[in-house]
Amino acid sequence: MGWKPMPVQAMRWALLGVLFAGAALAAGPPETVAATDSYPVASDVRLGGDATQTRFVMDLDRKIDLHVFTLADPYRLVLDIPQVTFQLPPHAGEAGRGLIKAFRFGLVMPGGSRMVFDLVKPVRVDKAFVMDAAAGSPARLVLELGATDRESFLRKMALDEKFASSEVPAASAPPPAAGDARPLIVLDPGHGGIDTGTRAPNGECEKDIVLEFAKRLRDRLEQSGKYRVLMTRSDDTFVPLGDRVRIARQAGAALFISLHADFLARREGDADGATVYTLSDTPSDPQAARVADEENHADVIAGVDLKNEPDDVAGILLDLAQRETKTFSMQFAHKLVGELEATTRLHKDPIRSAGFRVLRAPDVPSVLIELGYVSNKQDLQSLNSDSWRDRTANSIAAAINDYFAAHMVRDRAGAN
Ligand SMILES: [Zn+2]
Repeated sequence: MGWKPMPVQAMRWALLGVLFAGAALAAGPPETVAATDSYPVASDVRLGGDATQTRFVMDLDRKIDLHVFTLADPYRLVLDIPQVTFQLPPHAGEAGRGLIKAFRFGLVMPGGSRMVFDLVKPVRVDKAFVMDAAAGSPARLVLELGATDRESFLRKMALDEKFASSEVPAASAPPPAAGDARPLIVLDPGHGGIDTGTRAPNGECEKDIVLEFAKRLRDRLEQSGKYRVLMTRSDDTFVPLGDRVRIARQAGAALFISLHADFLARREGDADGATVYTLSDTPSDPQAARVADEENHADVIAGVDLKNEPDDVAGILLDLAQRETKTFSMQFAHKLVGELEATTRLHKDPIRSAGFRVLRAPDVPSVLIELGYVSNKQDLQSLNSDSWRDRTANSIAAAINDYFAAHMVRDRAGAN
């Protein structure tokens, strides 16, 4: 695996410390992560009980540590465990029982897995433990939940927080590249780890599709020699939305490009083509509002505590400092569409805006590209095609060149 010249891994480790306060983890860069079969294996899950008491059991091939906490609005229970290989039956977690509406599971960082349970109502965690294997039974992780009221739920949550170590190491910005004045472009492949993003009818996940594309685009930009490139993630781990923004700001990004792939439910008809989104306090149309809602939901999916994340998009937009950023973002969006229309299918209405959390850096021009619809057969084929990826990466690179060329002219004019 290639070594990237940025200490971004180190930085992300610090950032992900936020997610994992309190959980014991074997740290190590992802490059050294051992073969999958050395991780504990989860082989089956069972739900029992009713809406007053619900029991969750998961079979494991060995005992593991666990850390449980709850989140409100929406009510969730989060179970942090060391990295586990999930070999659960297909559709595990899709249907709930009793107090559990549904659950999902996956990696949140190298070395750490997470399960997030959506709750029907507030719960009390009566028991959370792992039983050793005994008498022919595998090791078992057991959660016992009881129904409670909102007030008790919130009180317990506040107490847990008070006594949890809240010291979070400040994320350090990567050192400025000495003498390297090339603009820094931050590529942000959406989702990752426990958050799969949208899912194509054939089971393919948005998180994998957009990571593949981002790597292609990164290589293309690096080959040009004109830019430094930083990825918010370069493997299958989850990165919270706020951290993606912070990575861009702390690294001094000149441009932030978030990459996604949309999905339209069959009852909503069919749609195809790429769309470029910018940030706005009022959505350009109801469809843009839907896309922003879905993309903003990533942190809920992954069990991130939303109250630590300011969501004041409208307030930020009032800030004068952001007006210029907003103008630049729009200019770049137009250049993107201008280049993409020659090579890529575009949505019939390809420039739109809404309140995307990941675009809210007040000082980094930012766009979000929905590369296509995984629900559309032809788009999905494109997204998986090497020639489409190359063409599209080339168009985006051309738009980036165009954008910076225009700005260099502007800066020179300003200096005279
Ligand atoms: Zn997405």
